[in-house]
Amino acid sequence: MFAAGTTSSLQYQRRRLAAVLIAIFLLAVSFLVIYAAAFSTFKASELERAEGRAEFYRTTLESALDRLEHLPFIVGQDPAVVRGLTDPDSRDALNRRLADFASRANAEALYVMDLTGLTVAASNYAEPVNFIGENYSFRPYFQTAKSGQRGKFFAIGATTKRPGFFVAEPVRNLAGKIIGVIALKIELDELVAAWQASGEKILITNLDTIIVLASQPDWHYRTLLPISEERLLDIRNMRQFGQEALQPLDWTRLDDDEIDFAGERHIGVRVPVKSQPWQLHFIVSTAGLQERALFVVFLAAISVALLAILFIFWRSERLRRALHASHQDRQRLLREIEERKATEKALAKTQKELEKSSRMAALGQLAASVTHELGQPLSAMRNYIAIEEMGATQKPDSLATRLSSLVRRMENITRDLRFFSQPKQDQQSPFDISRAIDNAVGLVRHDVQAKEIELQVKAPSPGAQILGNSARFEQVLVNLLRNAISAVDNVDAPRIEIGWTLELGQVVIFVADNGHGLKGQQIEDLQEPFRTDKPSGEGMGLGLAISASIVKEHAGELFAEDNDHGGATFTVLVPPLTPLDEESTE
Ligand code: ADP
Repeated sequence: MFAAGTTSSLQYQRRRLAAVLIAIFLLAVSFLVIYAAAFSTFKASELERAEGRAEFYRTTLESALDRLEHLPFIVGQDPAVVRGLTDPDSRDALNRRLADFASRANAEALYVMDLTGLTVAASNYAEPVNFIGENYSFRPYFQTAKSGQRGKFFAIGATTKRPGFFVAEPVRNLAGKIIGVIALKIELDELVAAWQASGEKILITNLDTIIVLASQPDWHYRTLLPISEERLLDIRNMRQFGQEALQPLDWTRLDDDEIDFAGERHIGVRVPVKSQPWQLHFIVSTAGLQERALFVVFLAAISVALLAILFIFWRSERLRRALHASHQDRQRLLREIEERKATEKALAKTQKELEKSSRMAALGQLAASVTHELGQPLSAMRNYIAIEEMGATQKPDSLATRLSSLVRRMENITRDLRFFSQPKQDQQSPFDISRAIDNAVGLVRHDVQAKEIELQVKAPSPGAQILGNSARFEQVLVNLLRNAISAVDNVDAPRIEIGWTLELGQVVIFVADNGHGLKGQQIEDLQEPFRTDKPSGEGMGLGLAISASIVKEHAGELFAEDNDHGGATFTVLVPPLTPLDEESTE
């Protein structure tokens, strides 16, 4: 039994643990799903924003590159340029002219090279570091322009060591023959400074994935992908990036729009730059997105916690209500049980009383017929004896005298029986309890004196008023006194006490004696008709039955108990006519 209980409780605990683990797992999975959903939503909106920004930066870059794109072509048409190429004496004038153009157009430098790549005139001729006398034949833009095309090229300045965007055009003489090249250098420092100030991450890469421009200057000339040795050699020959090492950037593309950059996850977009084979990369760290997604998870967790608290509160409230209801049911049940018990008790009492009253009714019928049948012969006997006594002298032990005493005893017996045959007398009137006691004592005084009994009467006058039939009530007191007299029959110093007091608003009449006591009998037994310990002819056992009946007529009760020091006390409890103050009896 015990083992079975332990096993089932162990199973229950295991099941509970499993349920808790499953709940935790499901919750964790839900949070992960919420995180992933929130992250991808934020990522999508961030990507959309990034596309807009990338587009914006691409436009600013293109306009910076295109702004002066036609300047070399236009200036190349100037006869002063052709002249400068053919006549060395006119080069000073050309220098000034180029400087004027460059400053008006806000260009870094504007310079003219002969077909060998030697710079013959330059706008920066007056600066300590200028292009005059430098040979740029190695530059692709020179070669392209020399071949008659517009050359465009981004490179670190071979002379100035400053990066810039070069645009070159061929210079033709009047016959249309290419006699030189005119080139323009645009510096993009301002653009880069503006990008840097924005705090956003922008990178421009060329076909070799070398970063030509970036919002962060230290990213310049790093590569997104490693470059082969061969290609590196080519680049060196073009002197495009001077002595830069062209080291790879800490950049790993995770997928189309995610990059691991400098140990941090980024999302990014790339757009091609129109005028150059470049790509513009706009990247954003996902840290912010992760924070936002975590915040959503946090909100979800708080909601779940709140819901859980609400659920627990709702359940405990329900439990409390159920408990309260069951407690009330229990109370109601207990009350019903009590009521039922009381009803059963009352029923039993009623039944007992019914049995008793039916017995009394039967007794009444019997008593009526006996007293009726005996009445006639007894009165005839009394008459005959009277006639007999009239003629003869009175002797105390004559037959007539003895017969007369026997007849009297028989009449006493029939008188007792007649009580049961008579219907109850309804006339009730107030009477004084002390007087009733005095009257009853008067009726037994003869016997008391004859038997030398010490009788104490405690009946202060005037006594309490009781409503009822005084004669019948006196009969009760006489019965109790007679029983007491019988009880003290063989006792040394026989003593009887009669009197009344007030207790809890009730009149309490007591008859106490120092006789043989009740011998363990209860009042219920004693007041049964015909229950007596007296020899035949001395008592019929009707005294207490009659007394109880009369007491009941007076709305009272009869009690009996043994005294602590021998003898018995009979008590009659009756309500007084008017409520009394206990002190009034003192
Ligand atoms: P009876 O007096 O004819 O015997 P009762 O009904 O008056 O009939 O009394 C019934 C019995 O109660 C008595 O026989 C007696 O045993 C007992 N009894 C009554 N009064 C006392 C008393 N004061 N002391 C002891 N026993 C008593």
